[in-house]
Amino acid sequence: MSLRIKWESGVLIEHKDTKIILDPYSRSLNHRAALVTHAHLDHSHAFKVNHILKFSSEETGELVALDGISRIDRWRPIREGERITIDDIEVTPHSSGHVLGSYEFEIITPEGTILFTGDLNTREHRTVRPAEPVQCDVLIIESTFGSPDFVFPPDETIAKDIVDWASKVLSAGKIPVFQADSLGNAQEVIRVFNENTTIPIVSHRRISRVNRVYEMHGYRMEYIDMEDERAHELISNRNAVIVAPKRLDLSFRTDYVSALVSGWALKFRRKSFPLSDHADFPNLMEFIGRCRPKIVLTYHGGRHNSILAKYVEKKLKIRAYPIDLIPTRFQSKISYF
Ligand SMILES: [Zn+2]
Ligand SMILES: [Zn+2]
Repeated sequence: MSLRIKWESGVLIEHKDTKIILDPYSRSLNHRAALVTHAHLDHSHAFKVNHILKFSSEETGELVALDGISRIDRWRPIREGERITIDDIEVTPHSSGHVLGSYEFEIITPEGTILFTGDLNTREHRTVRPAEPVQCDVLIIESTFGSPDFVFPPDETIAKDIVDWASKVLSAGKIPVFQADSLGNAQEVIRVFNENTTIPIVSHRRISRVNRVYEMHGYRMEYIDMEDERAHELISNRNAVIVAPKRLDLSFRTDYVSALVSGWALKFRRKSFPLSDHADFPNLMEFIGRCRPKIVLTYHGGRHNSILAKYVEKKLKIRAYPIDLIPTRFQSKISYF
């Protein structure tokens, strides 16, 4: 009996009659169960499909519920390190270091062990513990920044740049606005200011509701919601930093100066800071080496899938290719396409 791994609008893992789908984004799901790594929209589609059994962290379920999914059916929250059994397959989640409640899944089958990373970050962050390398036979790894062009400066340097820039904008009589992903980077920016300054933070409504979930899970966030009266006063006194969602159009506010917070900053022309909740290229290579896999399947990185795979083969001497290139079969001792 072999293990089959295939790209099918998500990552399909098939052993005997058991089919498990990881972070699917199709609605026609006839699998035994879905594993959801985290609440970002491109990973959590399974929550929109009532009939499928889904596993994720408690935090992921709570964050997904913010998007108006009022009733979540057939959802089973699992704790980090907990082991669940789906037929012959055992699944254990570990932290993936990306955002609140994000998991990588260790999937143990009679033919071998798979590690599926979802989105991954191996650097120490303020609101999430780094991803843990797990020894495995097949590593399915995201490759968002899977190209040598992406090497982030040390997190502390970026944090310092963020604070310095905001102070400069404030002294010029304007309001600094950081536009960041509402889940993950926004909370990191808030913590950067909370830890290093006394500047009040004004948080956009869409970010405040995510902050509340972080707070419920023990992360301290000091901020004032934008709808609060005090926020207007702070803004008119030029005594606040605003944290707002990425795609919000703020060009009509002449008193605002905005900057983007994203790993893609390295490619942007406008003011931006490369604070990221993803691993950069050296982080990815190191993580792969530490998992000691026999095969690496890259995914979620567009053209970076093949770039990362090429480097893994060349530098780490491990067989690697993009997951959607060809289905993979794996058997305890031998592996073949
Ligand atoms: Zn993500
Ligand atoms: Zn993603």
